[in-house]
Amino acid sequence: MTHHRQKNVVHWFRKGLRLHDQPALREGLSCATTWRCVFILDPWFAGSSNVGINKWRFLLQCLENLDNNLRKLNSRLFVIRGQPADVFPRLFKLWKVTHLSFEKDPEPFGRIRDLNITTMAQENGITVINRTSHTLYRLEKIIEKNGGKPPLTYKQFQNLLVNMEHPPAPEPRITLEDIGNAYTPLSEDHDDKYGVPTLEELGFDTENLKPPVWIGGETEALARLERHLERKAWVASFGRPKMTPQSLLPSQTGLSPYLRFGCLSARLFYQELTELYRKIKKINPPLSLHGQILWREFFYCAATNNPKFDHMVGNSMCVQIPWDVNVEALTKWTNGQTGFPWIDAIMTQLREEGWIHHVGRHAVACFLTRGDLWISWEEGMKVFDELLLDADWSVNAGSWMWLSCSSFFQQFFHLYCPVRFGRKADPNGDYIRRYLPVLKNFPTKYIHEPWIAPERVQIAAKCMIGKDYPLPMVNHQEVSHINLERMKQVYLQLSNYRGASKTNMYNNAVTTQSCQQRDDDGYPKHVKRRTVEYPKEGDDRR
Ligand code: FAD
Ligand code: MG
Repeated sequence: MTHHRQKNVVHWFRKGLRLHDQPALREGLSCATTWRCVFILDPWFAGSSNVGINKWRFLLQCLENLDNNLRKLNSRLFVIRGQPADVFPRLFKLWKVTHLSFEKDPEPFGRIRDLNITTMAQENGITVINRTSHTLYRLEKIIEKNGGKPPLTYKQFQNLLVNMEHPPAPEPRITLEDIGNAYTPLSEDHDDKYGVPTLEELGFDTENLKPPVWIGGETEALARLERHLERKAWVASFGRPKMTPQSLLPSQTGLSPYLRFGCLSARLFYQELTELYRKIKKINPPLSLHGQILWREFFYCAATNNPKFDHMVGNSMCVQIPWDVNVEALTKWTNGQTGFPWIDAIMTQLREEGWIHHVGRHAVACFLTRGDLWISWEEGMKVFDELLLDADWSVNAGSWMWLSCSSFFQQFFHLYCPVRFGRKADPNGDYIRRYLPVLKNFPTKYIHEPWIAPERVQIAAKCMIGKDYPLPMVNHQEVSHINLERMKQVYLQLSNYRGASKTNMYNNAVTTQSCQQRDDDGYPKHVKRRTVEYPKEGDDRR
């Protein structure tokens, strides 16, 4: 009897919106009869969620691009409206599915969702194929090497990696050859039934929407990777490029939103960087070459088994700090109306464009939490999650804990002064003028603290502080001093509580760390010099 069972494969896209380094799909395709790629989108969720319009636009562009790239393989993307748990049982029957493939989701909630769908599929006799390709490593492997717990310092994490093999190479792009005889059954009304929706169809008002600064999709991601590498080769230093005011602006080599949605594989990035280094330097690269992408891996690893990672209460990795609740202050920060141009420009860029530079993130995160407003990092994380194109559950929460001195990973006691930090990063005020045009006529001398400008200067600039642009919402020198004392109390209690035991958190906390997250991008130098910016005599100009 030669009855061959048909192999009808469905690949479920969530992140990993690409056709390169897609091991689960590749495996599904082998000897397949039919194949279909689906993305499940809940239109109700679109309207009600706290995901900003820029992020939706980016996602839809990623899907459009995926659909276009699938057409080149004689296939299409099937965008299905609904929720996975409702959609799949229907599809399983309709398409006589025998195999379901998807990329492993390293995050706790995704894992639960996937477990449910896996169970459901298996009950229907469907084979489930899932593979790691969003992270460099299988995170369980790192955790296993560390005795079953995720490493909680980056140093520890690095030490583990040194003794591990390199991450697996990315898998080649899916080609017609991989597809072989498999085909995608398509109908005339595919666009009506399964097309990528528009923002309007999702209920967004796009009338005042500015053109996107970041274009979603794998094609754009690969072009950016190329430019990123060209620039690295040209600079040939392989360090972090020197920070200049230009760095604050969106760049054609920026990759983070693409890594977030998986338009670019972290492994491809890792591999290409390694190869470039070997080619130019003729030696194997040090671990530090991959520093940035390894930070991503570190946060993913810390969060993977901790569903409370984005909370303070009940999160064993988070220091408990009695933050204030202050809705009014939070709103000012969120809307870029703190009265500190450096902070407000960053928040405006975030809202309008969806990406801000690492130092900008430091500035606004410090200001919201331990620096000025003493508001919980969770609130800031939520705003970033809504607006930041690259916001990752793990990386975002981990970075916010870090910046607010809440995590056990590492302590930072540098306080940034929103005026001096701004001046350092944007000495001519061009960045501020770009994002806060209301201040554009202020002379450079005053642009970072326009409230000290004499009245005639404000008149000439056609901007009265307190009327056309807000007065600073706090006295930085005073509040930062108070907050520093509060933070010291928290850590003092923590060290008392822990006794004189192994980790001397308090001492760790108040000394400058040598192993900084970014010690080579120009900034941290000023930060290192002065652990804390104590208020200076006569510096209080408010
Ligand atoms: P590059 O410097 O070119 O680095 C290449 C890639 O490495 C990035 O695209 C990113 O994927 C990864 N990476 C770089 N720096 C870090 C870092 N410090 N931690 C983890 N991964 C890093 N990054 C996110 O990807 N998602 C987030 O949700 C996120 N939230 C943050 C929140 C706060 C409060 C702070 C301070 C930082 C956050 N970052 C986050 C880290 C970092 O700011 C961005 O990854 C970086 O600015 C992206 O720009 P780039 O692509 O030019 O990075
Ligand atoms: Mg960059």
